[in-house]
Amino acid sequence: MALPRRLARRLRSSRTWIALGILAPVGMVIVSGLMLLDLRRDAWAMAEQTSKNLLKVIERDIARNVEIIDLSLRAVVDNLKAPGVTEATPELRQLILFDRASTAQDLGVMLVLDENGDSVIDASSVPPRKLNNADRDYFRAHKAAPKLGLVISRPLVSRLTGARIVVLSRRIDKPDGSFGGIVLASLNLSYFSRLFDQIGLGKGGAINLYLRDGTRLMRHPFVEEDIAANIDGTPNFDRFVRERSGAFVGSSVRDGIERHYVFTKVGEWPLVLNVALSTYEIEAAWGAKALVISVVVLSLCGLTVFLSLLYGRDLRRRAALQAELAELSRTDALTGLPNRRRFEETFERVWVGAQRTRRPFSLLVVDADHFKRYNDRYGHAVGDEVLKGLAACLGASVHRPDDLVARVGGEEFVILLPETDVEGALRIAGKLHAAVSLLAVPSAGIGAGAVTVSVGLAVGPADAASPNDLYRKADAALYAAKEGGRNQTQCAPGAPEDTGAVIALRSVRA
Ligand code: GH3
Ligand code: MG
Ligand code: MG
Repeated sequence: MALPRRLARRLRSSRTWIALGILAPVGMVIVSGLMLLDLRRDAWAMAEQTSKNLLKVIERDIARNVEIIDLSLRAVVDNLKAPGVTEATPELRQLILFDRASTAQDLGVMLVLDENGDSVIDASSVPPRKLNNADRDYFRAHKAAPKLGLVISRPLVSRLTGARIVVLSRRIDKPDGSFGGIVLASLNLSYFSRLFDQIGLGKGGAINLYLRDGTRLMRHPFVEEDIAANIDGTPNFDRFVRERSGAFVGSSVRDGIERHYVFTKVGEWPLVLNVALSTYEIEAAWGAKALVISVVVLSLCGLTVFLSLLYGRDLRRRAALQAELAELSRTDALTGLPNRRRFEETFERVWVGAQRTRRPFSLLVVDADHFKRYNDRYGHAVGDEVLKGLAACLGASVHRPDDLVARVGGEEFVILLPETDVEGALRIAGKLHAAVSLLAVPSAGIGAGAVTVSVGLAVGPADAASPNDLYRKADAALYAAKEGGRNQTQCAPGAPEDTGAVIALRSVRA
């Protein structure tokens, strides 16, 4: 029961609403921020997955085609060693040496060159087309080193077809192991460009195929200058070579654009392939979403803060109004003094405090003498003026902050004096009589000394069983004062063991 009530009280507090109005938006911002970060992670994960899938597909296609060509080249090298092949007619020899792979779409030419670089066997022509490639790098490399295996050349322009090609070649050894020429197959670069062009990677995306020495064989999107450019020694290429396969974010040396690179070695061939997406484009869709969400969330937060502050201010005003009303309900309208209700609350509190400390406090009940006469003689309005004057006299008689002066009835007042014994209270009563003796209402012709009051004094808590009992005693003392001729203070008798007898004798006359 206490909890809901406490909660209800909290909800009525302006501070709670201001705190909620700030904490709720902060919470909203944090949750939205985490959500946006999560969305961003998703965008990156999806981009990486897409790149990896593409890379796999392209890598497999290239690796398989290079392998098929290499198998054909090996077959030529092996078959040349077979008995009778050298002696066979050129037509027969061509049939024996070259399989159907030599007619594949992107395969340019397949040739056997002798040790001088002259074409001696041509897969697609008998007699072979005249050609000498002794000056080509791959020819020189095979000539210089016997065990290079498959050599893939840099991009070249075919001397036979004029097409852009790369040449795949293997060395032919003579029976004594000396250089006997090479067998080569040229692969049109259009194979790579066609393969890459099928893939959409956005405006900033790219696919690159490099030789291991850093020479670019193909790039998508295609730009003529990119072909055969060498990027060996750049940080990105170093990583491609060092790590074989992986992913990282880096800036392109070519155009400075930051990209997310996913790269791999192509099969066991000296080729490096990468798929690179622009980081800007990876985050673009997310960025647009994030912007919309941020604007909406921040607007809502702003609105929440605004409304909470507004509501908080309203609650504060209401609380102030309530406090004012509460104060008014405890104040006497005519004199501005605390009224009976306020007196009773304070009296109860002072009583409890005094019981705890066992220290005396005094209660004075003050009543105007023959007040009815003023009303009768001067009218009610003048009576009111006199009452206001009396209130001022009562107020002037006390000085401690905890002393309370209240109007508890028509022309009846009380003075409550915490921590005050009978002597102190009698002193206050004396001051009061003195002040009242000076009270005058000149406009009504009431001069000083005309108004008097009678006072009943009781001291608690020792002499009384309850606050009511103490009040009754003070009232009885007041009655005694009236009986004693008015304009005086009478003390209530104390407890039998106390100094009641002495107090009972005391009285103050103005
Ligand atoms: P006593 O000395 O025995 O107290 O005589 P008294 O006339 O003062 O006492 P009584 O109780 O017979 O009369 C009180 C009068 O106070 C009645 C009423 O006319 C007057 N009175 C009470 N409240 C007000 C008030 O708010 N304004 C005015 N002007 N008079 C009031
Ligand atoms: Mg009176
Ligand atoms: Mg009275």
